[in-house]
Amino acid sequence: AKNQGRNTWEWYAGEQDSSIREHVAIRRELLEAIEGDQFVVHYQPLVDAATIEIRGVEALVRWQHPERGLVPPGLFIPVAEATGQIIDIGRCVLRQACHDMKQIVEHLGRPITLAVNISPVHFRRSSFFSEIQAVLEDTGLAPSYLELEVTEGVLMSAAEKALEQVQALRNLGVMVAMDDFGTGFSSLSYLRDLPINKVKIDRSFINDIDTSRHNAAIVKGVITMTHHLGLEVVAEGVETEAQHEYLRAHGCDLLQGFYFSRPVPLKELLK
Ligand code: C2E
Ligand code: CA
Ligand code: CA
Ligand code: CA
Repeated sequence: AKNQGRNTWEWYAGEQDSSIREHVAIRRELLEAIEGDQFVVHYQPLVDAATIEIRGVEALVRWQHPERGLVPPGLFIPVAEATGQIIDIGRCVLRQACHDMKQIVEHLGRPITLAVNISPVHFRRSSFFSEIQAVLEDTGLAPSYLELEVTEGVLMSAAEKALEQVQALRNLGVMVAMDDFGTGFSSLSYLRDLPINKVKIDRSFINDIDTSRHNAAIVKGVITMTHHLGLEVVAEGVETEAQHEYLRAHGCDLLQGFYFSRPVPLKELLK
């Protein structure tokens, strides 16, 4: 049975699509992963566009599978969201990352921001706010260090409640960033209505910023617009010097991407 599960999962990974059988296989293995603490958190720096100084890190989960090795989130998060297991995974990542922040800040000797991705499935839970409070209390991390990255998906079903929740988090002192900006629907009304701090421009717009006049125009416009709204703006997926230069020249606040660093384990980040 174990072998069969492995084959079907490889097929799943190759096809980027989930039939019911693969779904069931991954769900079962995720259950073991949650019970066996198989998730690790890697960190990718966000740097100041002008000075290249590190201003924050984004926590990115990986599954340290006993047989398959390090599994990237794209391969299991969709299933975990469908089954609700993302809630347990999200709790584990939050706790680990808030815990690790003490060492990170101590090492750097100055405050930076910890960004954690939150699934809409988790964000919508009525217990979400108190969970955040509890994690901060238990780990002793000041709320102002924590930034939650949400996508427009958090607003899809219950816009009113989501708005209240974002406001409550802000009142607590936690920051909220709009992730993957530009890829969903109604982005502009969300930007206008939500009390967020930051906008992260999706990687797909940064990719060919130096060759596509259209992407360059969109990015330039988004930077101007978010600044007029009083928000900070981050470019994701910066891979080249040319992209860095363009974004710096157009006043983008923060940059994140392989050009500066890949996501790395805590030990490597502290080097
Ligand atoms: P995301 O939140 O948009 O995270 C950024 C992704 O872009 C990461 O992929 C990162 O490794 C990748 N990336 C960063 N710089 C570059 C670059 O210069 N070039 C390219 N090609 N890619 C770059 P990763 O770690 O595989 O994560 C994929 C997605 O999985 C994330 O996208 C996020 O939506 C989700 N995810 C990751 N960790 C968590 C988590 O703890 N909880 C939840 N709910 N979702 C997570
Ligand atoms: Ca993110
Ligand atoms: Ca993103
Ligand atoms: Ca993305």
